Amino acid sequence: MVVILKNNATDDQIDNVKKHLEDYGFQIHESRGVQKTILGAIGVQPDFDTRKIRILDGVAEVYRVTAPYKLAGRDFKSDNSIIKIKDVEIGGNEIVLMSGPCSIESEEQIFKLAEIVSRSGSKILRGGAFKPRTSPYSFQGMGEEGLKLMRAAADQYGLLVITEVMQISELDVIGKYADIYQLGARNMQNFALLKELGNVKIPVMIKRGLAATIEELLMSAEYVLANGNSDVILCERGIRTFEKYTRNTFDLSAIPVIHKRSHLPIIADPSHATGIRDQVPPMARAAVAAGADGLMIEIHHDPEHAMSDGPQALLPEVFIELVKELRTIAQAIHRNL
Ligand code: PEP
Ligand code: MN
Repeated sequence: MVVILKNNATDDQIDNVKKHLEDYGFQIHESRGVQKTILGAIGVQPDFDTRKIRILDGVAEVYRVTAPYKLAGRDFKSDNSIIKIKDVEIGGNEIVLMSGPCSIESEEQIFKLAEIVSRSGSKILRGGAFKPRTSPYSFQGMGEEGLKLMRAAADQYGLLVITEVMQISELDVIGKYADIYQLGARNMQNFALLKELGNVKIPVMIKRGLAATIEELLMSAEYVLANGNSDVILCERGIRTFEKYTRNTFDLSAIPVIHKRSHLPIIADPSHATGIRDQVPPMARAAVAAGADGLMIEIHHDPEHAMSDGPQALLPEVFIELVKELRTIAQAIHRNL
């Protein structure tokens, strides 16, 4: 931590800041210029609340130089984490596609879409059975019945299953059918659920919260890692900004930032990020170019009648064409898809 004192800080104020730093267990490195005094506080305390120093008289700025996360950071593990699930690797050279409907709606729907997912070359079938809807009057998902249908459809086409878990009480039932738990954006800081996801043996994909910083996303990952589950995948799905022409603002730069700071794989979700069908392919192409380890894309054969998120679902033929383009982009950056 670096503490910069005000130009007019008195000797007494500087001594008081130093005493506090020592009491908090830091070693001090002092640099006194003609005008500015800068204190380097040495000692790794990832959870230290820098406000304790910022409020002291004479302090101008306090900067943290070590990240508050440990296990999620590159300092802890310099190689990329590769999450292996059956014959699929997430975080390796291959870019992994997770596609399917927003919600599982019927046997006919999920089997039809699983066939398209498989034909496209995607390895993972997505679909929600327990849905986090903004309105309590909207379709809430098919529950376990939907999970059974999705598992059967995925098995028929040799796909893995990713599906959202919203609360601790759903973990067991979803765990019977899912290969990856999806923790939704609205639950990114549900710390009780994050802790429980640390105790399971199933990989977890954490979606970035609507108003979460990248650091907060990494801290959510830290909860799962610290509780014992090292199979964590991150997902950028857009954040809330002042922009109204898109559902959310797709923070593409989160992809290289996360790659630099963390060894965990990062998936991009251009469907929830933009919310409008015709904006999904350009952003999907951009995400591959930006280095995403995979994409989550919603598709539907009859989006007009979809129970949720129809306007952002790609039609099957558009999706199949998109995957071909993505393959070309992947090749250009020496990755497989
Ligand atoms: C979803 O994947 O269907 C979903 C609800 O996503 P998010 O949590 O990103 O809104
Ligand atoms: Mn959706």
